[in-house]
Amino acid sequence: MQTSFTPEQLADPGVARAEEILRKCVHCGFCTATCPTYLTLGDELDSPRGRIYLIKDMLENDRPADGRTVKHIDRCLSCLACMTTCPSGVHYMHLVDHARAHIQKTYRRPLADRFYRALLAAVLPYPGRFRLALMAARPGKPFAGLIEKIPAARPLVSMLALAPSALPRPDAKLARERHAADATKARGRVILMQGCAQRVLDPAINLATIELLTRLGYEVLTPQREACCGSLTHHMGREDDAHASVRHTIDTWLDAAGEDGLDAILITTSGCGTTVKDYGHMLRNDAAYQQKAARVSALAKDITEFLAAIDLPQSRVGEGIRLAYHSACSLQHGQKVTDAPKALLRQAGFTVLDVPEGHLCCGSAGTYNMLQSEISEKLKARKLANIAATRPDAIAAGNIGCITQIASGSKVPVLHTVELLNWAHGGKRPARLPR
Ligand code: SF4
Ligand code: SF4
Repeated sequence: MQTSFTPEQLADPGVARAEEILRKCVHCGFCTATCPTYLTLGDELDSPRGRIYLIKDMLENDRPADGRTVKHIDRCLSCLACMTTCPSGVHYMHLVDHARAHIQKTYRRPLADRFYRALLAAVLPYPGRFRLALMAARPGKPFAGLIEKIPAARPLVSMLALAPSALPRPDAKLARERHAADATKARGRVILMQGCAQRVLDPAINLATIELLTRLGYEVLTPQREACCGSLTHHMGREDDAHASVRHTIDTWLDAAGEDGLDAILITTSGCGTTVKDYGHMLRNDAAYQQKAARVSALAKDITEFLAAIDLPQSRVGEGIRLAYHSACSLQHGQKVTDAPKALLRQAGFTVLDVPEGHLCCGSAGTYNMLQSEISEKLKARKLANIAATRPDAIAAGNIGCITQIASGSKVPVLHTVELLNWAHGGKRPARLPR
């Protein structure tokens, strides 16, 4: 694609990166075939190609974002299916991230939108506040139907619908900084990222991960200073907030790692994993942090990527259980981790079923299911129908956002892949899995 940026515009590293990406696009439109919002809405401007044109126009003309551009960029899930499909290697993720930051700086959103975004940014990245908000939402759940008709209250209705009726208790074990490895097999040392929403919504996932890793001979560090990885605010275009979180996370992890060496930083929330793996790019212009950020990104691994690289024994625990594997977009498109989780589950004896249209997003996408609830609900229904077609006994996924989204519409239990792998390799049977 031809571009016409001036040398002054290209002096901004963000614009220079956007230009580099734009020039790779050959307008072929292949990406439209796998874009969930284009498939749902049928509007070219809700396709990757359409959004690329809108972003190009906005940046080239150096103008503030307008309502039309914001509407179509806001509808993008950042699922990155377009990046998997694109034959020209267009890095849509970096382009849309830059566009979102530009929108945040130059566009004044309507009052209600500003309120919900500020609320989500002030609550979700903080586990203590998030827990309190979920507890406060419980008595409001029966009234969700009453306010549903008010368009401005839709995000609130979605928040109430997604809030669980009961919250698991925090586990004292997760408040520790360090979990010792099984002394007979000492193999290495890792940091486990705890995830701000995950540790509140489903602490069993981190517990299962710690049990499995320590049993396999890894010392597991869980630094309690760890805050949000920055993913949530990053996807809202709040670049300063996101970068502050990224720097804090880097300092926390590298302090914890110390001089003793570290095999990996393990992530069980793939939405966060995609962002952590991009820290090197996010802080590339920060002289004080660029090297540290690149080091953290290089150490970051999804838990299944890590487990697939060590020799796990065969297990028969999962025999007779039909498992639909939901491949989170952040894992399959963002990190290109596709086969490892399924291979590990098969090795554990499960019958792993591929979900039809598995490349399409479930509609969760961070805060998307609250801010764009109508499109999110359509995608959820499509995903649930595709999962149901496989007639599973249980569903496995590697991202708390997808787990919450799918579980909100499914009677079949939804588990994290690592909970099943922990069971297969000597741990407890996950409580949610029926006998
Ligand atoms: S990230 Fe997903 S929703 Fe956004 S343009 Fe790409 S395929 Fe479409
Ligand atoms: S598939 Fe790639 S090159 Fe083709 S229109 Fe989409 S982004 Fe551009």
